[in-house]
Amino acid sequence: MPKNAILKVEGKDVPVSNLDKIYYPKAGFTKGEMLAYYIKMAPVLLPHLKNRPLTLKRYPNGVEAPFFYEKQCPKPTPPFVKTCQVARHHKPGSIQFCLANNLPTLVWAANLGDLELHTFLSKAPNVHKPTQIVFDLDPGPPANAVQCAQVALWLREMFSNLGLEVLIKSSGSKGLQAYVPLNTPTTYAETSPFAKAVAQALEKVHPELVVSDMKKDLRRGKVLVDWSQNSETKTTVCVYSLRARERPFVSMPLEWSEVEKCLKKKDESLVFFEAGEALKRVEKKGDLFAPVLTLKQNLKDALNLFSPGQTKKMTKTRLKGTGDGSLSAYSAKRDFTQTAEPSGKSKASGKKLLFVIQKHDATRLHYDFRLELDGVLKSWAVPKGPPTDMKTKRLAMMVEDHPYDYARFEGTIPEGNYGAGTVMVWDIGTWENLGPESHEGLKTGKLHFRLNGKKLKGEWALVRMHGPRATTGREWLLLKHGTALKPISAKQDDLSAISGRSLKQIGGSSNRQWTSGKKATDRNTREEKGSFKSRISSLGRQLNQAKKRAVKLK
Ligand code: MN
Repeated sequence: MPKNAILKVEGKDVPVSNLDKIYYPKAGFTKGEMLAYYIKMAPVLLPHLKNRPLTLKRYPNGVEAPFFYEKQCPKPTPPFVKTCQVARHHKPGSIQFCLANNLPTLVWAANLGDLELHTFLSKAPNVHKPTQIVFDLDPGPPANAVQCAQVALWLREMFSNLGLEVLIKSSGSKGLQAYVPLNTPTTYAETSPFAKAVAQALEKVHPELVVSDMKKDLRRGKVLVDWSQNSETKTTVCVYSLRARERPFVSMPLEWSEVEKCLKKKDESLVFFEAGEALKRVEKKGDLFAPVLTLKQNLKDALNLFSPGQTKKMTKTRLKGTGDGSLSAYSAKRDFTQTAEPSGKSKASGKKLLFVIQKHDATRLHYDFRLELDGVLKSWAVPKGPPTDMKTKRLAMMVEDHPYDYARFEGTIPEGNYGAGTVMVWDIGTWENLGPESHEGLKTGKLHFRLNGKKLKGEWALVRMHGPRATTGREWLLLKHGTALKPISAKQDDLSAISGRSLKQIGGSSNRQWTSGKKATDRNTREEKGSFKSRISSLGRQLNQAKKRAVKLK
């Protein structure tokens, strides 16, 4: 390769120089190789740079020599370099940032020794409106990327409970960086305190491994969840950027399975990739970070329910312990690392109380009949299902209370777990007490109620059994009251009330229906909000579960 040359890049002349200069002495990686890397990576890199004000981090003599940051687009600025004017923060004047919107600009910047590309979280001209949230997971030695992997997985779980997807990349330096794509209208005034609340909540729940405070001395052996990058004045290293380390590592998108593996094997090398490997990965996997640019997620709902005040309340509840004692039996029977069933506990009740019948294809097929009371679901297992005529009495075995969230659980409980088999939401709606006061009725063993479901409408009763056949005290009978109902057809009997799927179809898919909130389009707004709230209130518990299953570090 010649020392100096004019490269013809997309019809533009870009002068390049000192191509044989060693940029990474330990790896023998030259400036020419650096340029070649950026040119080859451009198809996936440029979309992430597009319209984002760029801070250059220039290493004119390689990674072992002095470097400098450059916000102001260097002069002379070639005509193909687009720029964007951004007002200085708390100072008069403005800065003309480069926008690396095309390949000639990328090559030109690289030739200036711009080894690292640092970009805004927002796009010109809307520099006040971030399109994403970032958490920089920065390990304080002796912690490393393995501990970051653990924190990233907690973060992902937390966001999953908020209904938000998170993507992850290695910083290419020491840690990992988690991105929450938004691509919907928001401001830093919203994202910054939100990110801070998330980091603080994580610290409260996992104080042994997480700090949310920047102070260096607090970080030793822990992971700083740096939320402060979510600011108009900050830039973050762009995905696929090289890093100025001993070797040419790249800020590389990761699959979550790779993060899990890194944690399991305690091997941080599993999440770090050098330039050559990075190019091969992209060839094979494409741009794993593409959703950061395209996935539309709304922070508004999460914001309403996850303000800093809420964080405090939420973590306090968790730190106090399990709280709702009536679900201890439910929790004790389940390993939430194995089953997708909700571990959530209860909800603030709406005006109308919920009822649900879940068809459960377990060791023996049965129907689980549940009535909302005091924020949980009182539950009975009905082997033959609800009767539709007055002559039929159906045995109903009272079982442990289930969390409110369970009402919309549809999916498969894996083999070897309590209740293994497929669960369908067979009917769902509201119930109304027609008899004595509900708590009184439960105590005396007589409940009379009206169901307003999709399949079942009308009056039923639950009556506790007495005598020799009632050996456990949990035997009840489910009876039809009022007028008879047309028998349920075989087709209706095998049809989910929320997804329209058959048991077989549900069994064939392993999705966690209850968290998706997307397919069940028939929910009304109140219910939607209710389930969202309950997801939040269960956040602390879920994190606690995640903590229990965490691999012991160190
Ligand atoms: Mn069951």
